[in-house]
Amino acid sequence: MGMDAKDSFDALNKFLTLLGDNKLAAKAIVGVMNQRLVRVLCDECREAFEPDAATLKKLNLPADKIDRFYRPPTEKKLDRKGREILCLTCQGTGYVGRTGVFELLVVDEGVTKLIEAGAPIDRIKAHSRKNRMYYLQETGLLKVIDGRTSMNEILRCLRTSEK
Ligand SMILES: [Zn+2]
Repeated sequence: MGMDAKDSFDALNKFLTLLGDNKLAAKAIVGVMNQRLVRVLCDECREAFEPDAATLKKLNLPADKIDRFYRPPTEKKLDRKGREILCLTCQGTGYVGRTGVFELLVVDEGVTKLIEAGAPIDRIKAHSRKNRMYYLQETGLLKVIDGRTSMNEILRCLRTSEK
């Protein structure tokens, strides 16, 4: 089922409240997935640039390992008559198609027990984190690092998730 929620924990919390029966919920749920669509950068015209150190620090990324991000071209290409030459692949939009960014909360044995016991959502969060669950922001960043999408796209998709 689909649900409007801030993140997968918020969705789980809403579902538990809605159902009002934690034992039943623990049996019914195998996972909660939070998904956002982001636009994919055009391979033909994407532009590499060096992210500044402050941005990387804010994102908790190692500056010595990341030397480039990509973005749509920032300068227009002009022909001899001064008319703009659009990229044929993306018609000058900088993006072609979309891809999903996911956050998956796996309801493993530990989470099942916590749900059954009616534990607060923060404890479920801590458990999932310990089991190396990635948040939406992090899976999104991986797509920026491998050049699939731009930082602006990820920020846009995270902003809409805060609604
Ligand atoms: Zn293009």
